[in-house]
Amino acid sequence: MIVPLSDSGIKFGMSNAISPPNPPKDIRRPSTAAQPAGLPHVVLAGRPNVGKSTLFNRLIRAKRAITHDRPGVTRDRMEGIVRRNGLPAYAVMDTGGVTLDAHAAVAEGPESLRGFEADILRQTEAALAAAAGVALVVDGRDGLLPLDEHLAAYLRRTGLPSLCIVNKVDGIEREDELTAEFHALGLPLVAVSAEHGHNMPLLAEMLAELARREDAPGEAVSPPKTALRLAMLGRPNAGKSSLVNALTGEERMIVSSIAGTTRDSVDVRFARKEREYVFVDTAGVRRRAKITDSLEKYSVNSSLKSASKADVTLLVLDAAQGVSQQDKRLVDLLGTRKIPFLILINKCDLAPRAALKQLEKNVRAMLSFCAHVPVLPVSAKTGQNLEEIMRLAEKIHAECHIRVPTGQLNRAMEEVLAKHQPPVVKRARAKFYYLTQAETAPPTFVFFVSDAERVPENYARYLERALRALFGIAHAPIRLHLRSSHKKKQ
Ligand code: GDP
Repeated sequence: MIVPLSDSGIKFGMSNAISPPNPPKDIRRPSTAAQPAGLPHVVLAGRPNVGKSTLFNRLIRAKRAITHDRPGVTRDRMEGIVRRNGLPAYAVMDTGGVTLDAHAAVAEGPESLRGFEADILRQTEAALAAAAGVALVVDGRDGLLPLDEHLAAYLRRTGLPSLCIVNKVDGIEREDELTAEFHALGLPLVAVSAEHGHNMPLLAEMLAELARREDAPGEAVSPPKTALRLAMLGRPNAGKSSLVNALTGEERMIVSSIAGTTRDSVDVRFARKEREYVFVDTAGVRRRAKITDSLEKYSVNSSLKSASKADVTLLVLDAAQGVSQQDKRLVDLLGTRKIPFLILINKCDLAPRAALKQLEKNVRAMLSFCAHVPVLPVSAKTGQNLEEIMRLAEKIHAECHIRVPTGQLNRAMEEVLAKHQPPVVKRARAKFYYLTQAETAPPTFVFFVSDAERVPENYARYLERALRALFGIAHAPIRLHLRSSHKKKQ
């Protein structure tokens, strides 16, 4: 949701005085308006009359437009807060600064054009000083003008994340035609109509994306590496303790960590190749002190609880025993709850080749509804595939945290939707408006469509496969939501 910054929805920067055709110097000073606390801001830049104010008002959802009904009012800079999921997400800043009177001057000739260009640049410069990103607004009906090119070149030099908003594109029909020449600017493009609302949700997402980059400086470059949390599940005797021992390489570590304890959860921390790991809840995988101590239950509930504490879950099957009912139930639940997991077929040193192949086949069949889950034959005894366990766990974890920028997502999916159109259901096809990645861990994609009821299961699966292929999400679970939004406009 997008809400105004202040009650009026608008925050003035410096001046709202009646402006002479050539604004005096002092109103070009940077805004003294308080920066919304800690929020990254995205600047709207552009030449006069491209619709920045309308766009700004629509973004912050302030109905009382203050520009066009009060000709001669000079704005310096205006800021509004855009909220997402009920929380202030980022601020947009309209660099404004040009009066309606001034538009006439622009039309007069190159002399005044240069004057205004300089003026706009100055204002934009001040706003850009602390910006997370900048959007260049252009007029799709006017086409590409020299001033747009100058501004784009200038914005590129700032090195800030940028995008180009082609305004006054009233519908999807003429989008290609009206945006064609703006590709030359070398910026990501989005076609919108500030007046009619076309593509506004997509724009809001793309602006959020620009803001996000500065939101967490450095994080995208080198995320702090915290220990990867693993849960080892499976029935008693499947070889969980042996695997933990083989992986940690320090049998004593586990033994000592449970000495004198009951079945309370015990976390085992270890390092491998300079990376830290934690096996959570290893009570069930402890080395039993006595053989009589065989009370360990294989409870689906406590397994799920452990899985929920981990980044990646390892479900251990015993090659000699096959798949139990309990294993099946657990797989079902891990799958439907979108828990990242992989299946280890342990003790593969004991199983003849053919038997192992058959077991793998059975396990695969059980996974038909979550085919992304890897199945790996391993042996705690011989050490077979132990490295691969860690590699896959890391990969699944990384995939869970993939974040695809909205612009990229929409551009890529456009092709996917065109290649296989949604089928006709009840005499109509669902229209796909746009999609966004709402969350990570697991990656969650939301498609806004005309009518979710008209998207059959198999088409949703096609979309999921395409997303996985395009963005390299091979083994992590993903969520896909289809949301009906009966009107395109915001
Ligand atoms: P847990 O109850 O799942 O923790 O299972 P344990 O790790 O205690 O192992 C149960 C039994 O299986 C022990 O006797 C292990 O020595 C044996 N075992 C575990 N992994 C393997 C393996 O890969 N190959 C063979 N041959 N035996 C194994």
